[in-house]
Amino acid sequence: MALQTWVFRSNRSLEVELLGGKFRDRRIGSGEVLSEELERADAREVLEWVSAHVKRLAVTTSFQSSGLVILHMLRAIRPDVPVLFLNTGFHFPETLAFRERMTKEWDLNLIELRGDHGSPERQAAIYGPALYERRPDQCCTINKVEPLQRALEGYDAWISGLRRDQSAARSEIPAVTPQTLPSGRDVVKVHPLAAWTKSDINAYLSEHDIPTHPLLERGFASIGCRPCTRPVRRGEDDRAGRWDGVDKTECGIHSLETGEFVP
Ligand code: SF4
Repeated sequence: MALQTWVFRSNRSLEVELLGGKFRDRRIGSGEVLSEELERADAREVLEWVSAHVKRLAVTTSFQSSGLVILHMLRAIRPDVPVLFLNTGFHFPETLAFRERMTKEWDLNLIELRGDHGSPERQAAIYGPALYERRPDQCCTINKVEPLQRALEGYDAWISGLRRDQSAARSEIPAVTPQTLPSGRDVVKVHPLAAWTKSDINAYLSEHDIPTHPLLERGFASIGCRPCTRPVRRGEDDRAGRWDGVDKTECGIHSLETGEFVP
């Protein structure tokens, strides 16, 4: 692969310089990414490339199927990569048990991230009960966006398992995209599985005999926090069971957008 140099620029853009290869500019949000070669590369090549070029690299996962594929590949490429897990305090017990199992079996370098308030009880004492029902954007900001933003100050790139086939909102995600933290510092977000389908994921998991999240057998498809996740019905996309009945499709970590909230 002709991917050789990756140059960060201070003007909120980044450039992937492809020596010996053809490329064209592609404008994504506020940043400029020259990423056509990465769009064509397969997932393992993308992971090898980012592992070779970015020292301060992390991967985020909630131990769902796409994340397991990435973790499995990274075990052979960069086994000590920090694995960031956002512990919101609202996970299903099955998620936490599966996380423990896979962390032990794969000897993962797991780093747990928590929101400012540390627990659902303390959050309820400050904001009242069931903030996730009344103001889910605020709840996600406290428990997901802000802790991840803080953690990412220690990294230059992070890997996520987003795929274009997961929902309409994700149908155009690029393989590589810049994000700007509240401090103004840029990080790079890498989606090695952007072009994969659910069938690709299941085939990989089956081929490598990788265990899957236990709630998949109970009709769940995308598994987030317990109060905001339901099983999906036939014909629904995988993320239809997230924040059902609420005008919300993402928690915010994939855009890192935050709002102004009045406690
Ligand atoms: S998914 Fe629901 S419970 Fe979890 S942080 Fe967001 S609003 Fe809160």
